[in-house]
Order: sequence, then C-alpha cells, then structure tokens
Amino acid sequence: MTTGPMTMNDSVSMPARPADIPSVDRLLNLPALQPLLDQYGRAPATATLRRLLDTLRARAVAGELTRQALAEPALVQALAARLAREHQPRLRAVFNLTGTVLHTNLGRALLPDSAVQAVMRAMTAPANLEFDLATGGRGDRDDLIGDLLCTLTGAEAATVVNNNAAAVLLMLNTLATRREVVVSRGELVEIGGAFRIPDIMQRAGARLVEIGTTNRTHPHDYANAVGARTALLMKVHCSNYEITGFTRSVDVAEVVRIAQPHGIPVVVDLGSGTLCDLTRWGLPRETTVRETIEAGADLVTFSGDKLLGGPQAGMIVGRADLIAKIKRNPLKRALRVGKLTLAALEPVLQCYRDPDTLAQALPTLRLLTRQSGEIAALAERLLLPVQAALGEAWQVAAVPMVSQIGSGALPGGQLQSHGLVIGPREQEKRSGRRLQQLEAALRALPRPVIGRVAEQALWLDLRCLEATDEAAFAAQWPAVAEALRR
Ligand SMILES: *Cc1c(COP(=O)(O)O)cnc(C)c1O
Repeated sequence: MTTGPMTMNDSVSMPARPADIPSVDRLLNLPALQPLLDQYGRAPATATLRRLLDTLRARAVAGELTRQALAEPALVQALAARLAREHQPRLRAVFNLTGTVLHTNLGRALLPDSAVQAVMRAMTAPANLEFDLATGGRGDRDDLIGDLLCTLTGAEAATVVNNNAAAVLLMLNTLATRREVVVSRGELVEIGGAFRIPDIMQRAGARLVEIGTTNRTHPHDYANAVGARTALLMKVHCSNYEITGFTRSVDVAEVVRIAQPHGIPVVVDLGSGTLCDLTRWGLPRETTVRETIEAGADLVTFSGDKLLGGPQAGMIVGRADLIAKIKRNPLKRALRVGKLTLAALEPVLQCYRDPDTLAQALPTLRLLTRQSGEIAALAERLLLPVQAALGEAWQVAAVPMVSQIGSGALPGGQLQSHGLVIGPREQEKRSGRRLQQLEAALRALPRPVIGRVAEQALWLDLRCLEATDEAAFAAQWPAVAEALRR
C-alpha cells in the first residue's frame, strides 16, 4: 500500500471511527463542493450531504468504513453521485425492445412531431379550450375535435374522456343505470390493469345479462334476452384473445336488426379503435370505427393511445341525442380530458386525412410497418459493437424474431422482426443469475433498455429502435460491461 501525506501513519484502509467523520459545516466550506452547491442549490445539497454523512456514520459504527472513504475527493464524489441519483426524474425515457410496440407499461403510442409542438404551445400559452372565438362566448372543449372525429368515423357526434375505460363507464352509467345490458359470454373481456366488463358494468350501476356460451352465441340468444328492463345490447371487442374452433358470434349488423324493432340502442366497445384499413400496409385486418357505425351501432367507444396512435384518451362517437345525454351526465365533468390531451389529439387526427402519408407521420404506424429487412440490417450493425463491449463471457447473435402490436390490438397479428439474443456463453448453474444481472444492468442505464427473457437468453427486438436513437443505444454498452464486471 502506498502512503501519501494524508496517511503518514495510518493506512488508508484502516477502519474509520464515527469521530473521524467531518462536520457538515466544515465540508460546506470546501472549495471542491461549491460547484455542487451551485448546481443543485444550497439547501437541497446540504440536506443530501447530511444524509450521506448519516450513512457513513452508520457504516463507521458497524466498523465497515475505511479512512479512504473520508478523504476529501472521495466525499465530494460520493456527494455528487448521491445528488445525481436523488435528482434523477422518476419518469424516464427507456428503449422499448420488448417486441411489443404498444406496450401499456411503457406508455403505449408515441406522438408525432406535430402533436408534440401543439402540446408545447398549449402548455406555454393560453388557449381557446372552452372559448368560442367566433362569438366570444363560452365554448365546449369537445368542439375542438368533434368535427374531425365525425368526419373520420361517419358518426353524428363525438365526445372525449380520459381513456376508453372511462368512456365505457360513462356510456353505461348514462344509458343503463338500474337497467339491463346484454353481452355475450364470449365477450366478457378482462384487459390488463383490472378493467373487466362485469366489474365496470356493476360500478356503472347497470345489470349485466350474460347470454350464449364462451364459444357460441346465436342471434336468438340476443332476441330472447330483450325485455322491458333492457337498456342496451352491447358488443365488446375480444382485444387480447381469440376464440377459435367451434365458434359462433353475432356481428354488429345482426345485433342491430334484433334491437331496432324494440328501439334499444346497440353500443360497441371497439377497444383499439382503428380509423383506417390497415391491410393497406400489410397489417392484419381490423374492423374500423366507420365500419362499425355503418353497420348501425348507435355508439362506439375506443382508445386514443392504442392503434389510433395518439395520447391517452377515450372516444365516444355515434348518435347525437345519446352523445348529448352523455355530456349532461355529471360524471363527464369528472372524467373529462385536459388541454394537453386535446392539443395532442387534434394533430394526430389530422394525420388521418391523408392516408398516403399516414405511415410516415404517425410513429405507431411507422414502427408497425417497418420492414424486417431494415431491422435485420440494424441488428447486423449492432452485433459487433455489443459483442465487443460484453466480451467473451457472453454470446450475442442477430436473429429473426416476432413482434406484436400490443395493448390488445389484433392479438393474432404477428410481425416479422429482428433483434439481438444475448446469453452467458457457458450454460452453467449460475447462468440464470447472470442473465438477471444483465437485465438489471440494462435497466440501470441512463436510458434503460427493456427486453424480455426467454430460453435462457435476453431478447432485444429492434423494431422500436429508430435510426435517430441508434448511436445513443450503441454508446451505452461499455457501461453495461462495466456494471457486469463489478
Ligand atoms: C384497451 C381496452 C379498454 C380500455 O381502454 P383504455 O384506453 O386502456 O382505458 C376497454 N375495452 C377494450 C375492449 C379494450 O381493448
């Protein structure tokens, strides 16, 4: 061990006593600390310094602190690291390499630039949110996007709330309290995050009448269920599952034919809510909102941040008299959207006016339609740098894989993709733990990388790594290797 002037007699690795810990006041006067006080503010930095010294004192009492840790540069460095950690935002940008494009836990759809600009304006300047610029009187926030939604869906009227779950709740609460809503047993969906049709029905104050069986529901099941207490016939999109084999379901047009003579509205929870035919881009077919309205549905609800590719929101479109009734429900006020949501939604809906440029303009569609050849080339480019950074202990391969759309959109639809598969070279007893360490190291990066573990390897699907982020992604790997060596 070398000895410097500070450690003339004592080795730096000698244990420190609690009494060796310098006072807060003495440290605050150190010139080396001044930049941190300036950067983070004197009061917050002092509070963090006290917490740091408390930690060190506890370690000294336990006999686990070396004198080296109390050297000036070590203390300044420890404080800088702790301040950086404590001031890091909780909500952070990550790399979504899960292979699920619309990942609910990672925030679903990304917004186009036009929407980002509109949100920025709405955040920093007053806006005509509920102010009619033509008359100077009070306006209605729904009017900002009502016409656009009607044009794009063929509906008479539209309203927007916080999310599709709220849209379904509000619709049922307005039109079916203390009355019956008929739903096929094959459509009693549970969406992740505790949205279940039977539960939402109960909270809305409506009585669920289940008809048919899990795999087969017939027109006569609907017809037989209709009675004096029937408020609605409801169809729900089987967002995240498919019933295949010996099946029968009744389409919207058929349900409408049964409901019409009784004057009972038919409502449809479409879930994802597509506004255009996706087969144009080689994606699986999904019934659009317009087709559902044309089939005779009186109301349709759908999400803003699934296939539509906008901000979190829930749309209700359909008959003007029913929409007007929904808007008079006091719950509408509780579930309404804020100006930032509306600011983002309008330019997103504008993108749908021109289907020719849609796949470039909307990030969700751009990612979903990305060609597997382009993703394969990206995987090949990243293979060497990642392998070089991780070293011999890890095996990295560029392989084909399959992405999914996610958020309950087109559960059967699968997209050819490419990515990196990373695993410990030696398949030994500890390889499970090594894999967990790799995952943890990727999550601990300045911009965390989220993949998925399967077959004793980490799979990084590169569909959602866009060219603009490629360099930033590649630059993080030396830090991963560093973390794995510790
Ligand atoms: C996703 C979904 C919902 C919930 O929508 P959110 O916008 O997430 O609240 C409701 N119903 C169906 C059928 C869905 O797919």
